[in-house]
Amino acid sequence: MKVLLLGINARFTHVNMALYYLRQYIDPQKHDVVILEKTINDNIWDIFSEIYDIFPDVLCLSSFIWNQDHIQTILREIKKVLPDMIIVCGGPDISWNHDAWLAEFPSIDFIICGAGEKAFFELQENDFWKQNINRIEKTIKTTNYHFSKIETPYQITDKTSLKNRYLYYEASRGCPFKCSYCLSSNLEQALEYKNIQQVKRDIEFLLSFEPIIIKFIDRSFNVNYELCQKLWEYISEIDTKTKFHFEIHPFFLTERQIQILSTMPKERIQLEIGIQTTNNDTLGLINREGTWEGVKHHLKKLSMLQNIHKHYDMIAGLPNETINDVEKSFNEIISLKPEQFQLGFLKILPGTEISNEIEKWGFKIQDKAPYKVFASKTLPYDAMCQIELVEMTLQLIYNSNIMNYFLKMCLFQTLGKDCIYKYFLSLGNHLKCKKINKSIKDKKKLFQYVKEHYDLLNIQSSLLSDCIIYDWFLLFKTQYYPDFLEASHCYLFKEEVYNRFKISWQKMHMSSNNKNIDDLYKKKLKNISFFKPESNEFRKLYLGNAVGAANIEDEGIYFIYYETSSKDFEILKQAVL
Ligand code: SF4
Repeated sequence: MKVLLLGINARFTHVNMALYYLRQYIDPQKHDVVILEKTINDNIWDIFSEIYDIFPDVLCLSSFIWNQDHIQTILREIKKVLPDMIIVCGGPDISWNHDAWLAEFPSIDFIICGAGEKAFFELQENDFWKQNINRIEKTIKTTNYHFSKIETPYQITDKTSLKNRYLYYEASRGCPFKCSYCLSSNLEQALEYKNIQQVKRDIEFLLSFEPIIIKFIDRSFNVNYELCQKLWEYISEIDTKTKFHFEIHPFFLTERQIQILSTMPKERIQLEIGIQTTNNDTLGLINREGTWEGVKHHLKKLSMLQNIHKHYDMIAGLPNETINDVEKSFNEIISLKPEQFQLGFLKILPGTEISNEIEKWGFKIQDKAPYKVFASKTLPYDAMCQIELVEMTLQLIYNSNIMNYFLKMCLFQTLGKDCIYKYFLSLGNHLKCKKINKSIKDKKKLFQYVKEHYDLLNIQSSLLSDCIIYDWFLLFKTQYYPDFLEASHCYLFKEEVYNRFKISWQKMHMSSNNKNIDDLYKKKLKNISFFKPESNEFRKLYLGNAVGAANIEDEGIYFIYYETSSKDFEILKQAVL
C-alpha cells in the first residue's frame, strides 16, 4: 500500500518529527512511504491536489492547534475525490477529543491516541485493516514502547530535505509537572529518558546534517540534573556552528548548570524559559512549581551570561489576574533583559485541568483552536486588547532587535522598571494611530514613529538621540539619515573624515594629480556610512572614547579616532583598499 505521511507545519523551517518517527515503523517490504511537509501558509487546495497526485492508499495526518483549519478541510473534502483511501489521525487535540472528531468527521478511519509508534506499527502490520475496516474500533490506545527503545527518526537520506531547517530532537518524553493549562501535564506518557550515551550518539549523527539549530523538545530539560549537566558539558566542547535550543524550568536551575552555561561558546545555547507570571498566588492556582523569588534568583545569574541566548515566556489571562498583575509581571520579567520576551495569552486546551475551571475563573474563550482566552472575571476584554497592543509593540520593537541601543537605554536607564509596560502601551497606541499592525515590514517607518513618540515624551536626552541614530546606522548601513533623526552632525563628520582622508592620501601620492586622488577616494569611500554621537556619555559607553564610527558594508565597524594622527585612518584605509 502507498502510505502518505502528511505534516502541515507552522513554518517551512519547522520539521514535523512525528512523520519521521512513524516512517520507522512501516515495513518497507509491505508498504511504500511518502513524507509530505507543507505549511499553513500554503494554499489548502494546492495541498489537496498534491495529495490527489500522490494517490495514497493511506493518508496519515497529525493535527495541532496551529493547523486545524487545514486538517479539517482535508478531512471534510478529500474522500470526495479519494473515497477508498484510509485516513489515520493523531496529535494532541485529536487524542483528547477523539469522540468529537469522529462525530464531526466520519471520513476518519482511525485515531491514534497519545504517542503512537507501537499503535502505528500494529496498524501497518495489519494492512490498516483494509479488508474489515468497519469491524475494527476506530480509536486506538496502545501502551507505547519505552522511549529509550525508539530510535532517532531521521535518516541520512533526509539530509537534503532537512537542509536549512530546525532539527527537532527529544532526549526524553513526558513531564514530571502538573501545570494546569498544559497538555503535557495530563498525558498518559510516563517520564522516560534515553541514556546519555544514546543522546551523544544521536547528536553526533544529527550534526552530520549540519543543521542551523537542534531544538530539544523535552519538557523542562534541566530537571534531570545528571543528563542535563553531562550533555551541556559535551555540547560546550564540540566543534560546531550548530546551535542548541532547550526548554528549561527556571526554578530547577542549579549552580552547576549555570556554571557550565558560563563556559559555552557564544550563542551555542538558546534557553527557552517559561516564567508565566511573577505572582506567587497565581503560580499556586495553576500548579506551577516554584516561587517568583526562587526563579528570579536564578534568572538574575543567567542574565549575567552574555554568551547564552535567553527567551522568556509570560502568559496573560491566568486565573484571578488583573491588568495590574500583568503589568507587574511584564515589568519584572523584561527588567531581566532577555534577548527575546514572548508575551502570550492563555489558551484553554481541551483535556487540560484548567478546561474544567472555565466557569470558576469566568473565562471567555474562542470556540475553535487555538482556544485563546478573550476575557476572564478579573480581566475584561478591553484590558486584553490593551495587552494585545503591548504584545504587538514588544514584537515589533523589542524582539526584532532593531533598536537595541535606544530601547535598552530608554527602558532600563531612563524610564526605569516600573514604567516599562506603560511605555510599550503608550508607544502601541501611537503605532495604532498610525495604522501600524503586526505585519509591518517597513523598518524605516517604525524608526520614524518610535522617534516621533520619543519626541512627544519630551525626555530631551542627547544620549537617547545618539542611541536611536546609532541603531539606524547599525541596521541600515547607509549614508542617508532621514530628517526626523536630526543627524546632520553625522554628515559633517563624514565630510571631516573625507577631508582628512584626502589630505592623508595626497601626502602619500605626491606625484599623482589631485583630480585622480579626488575620484579615487570618493569612489572608495562611497559605500561607507558614518556616525558621530553628540553626547560624551554615548562615546564613553560605546565607542571607547572614539569620536565616531564608520561602517564599511559588511566588513563590520571601524572606529575613527579623531584626535590621533594617520594611525586611525590606516584602519579605515586597510578596510577600504
Ligand atoms: S508547562 Fe512545561 S513544566 Fe508545566 S506541565 Fe507543561 S511541559 Fe511540564
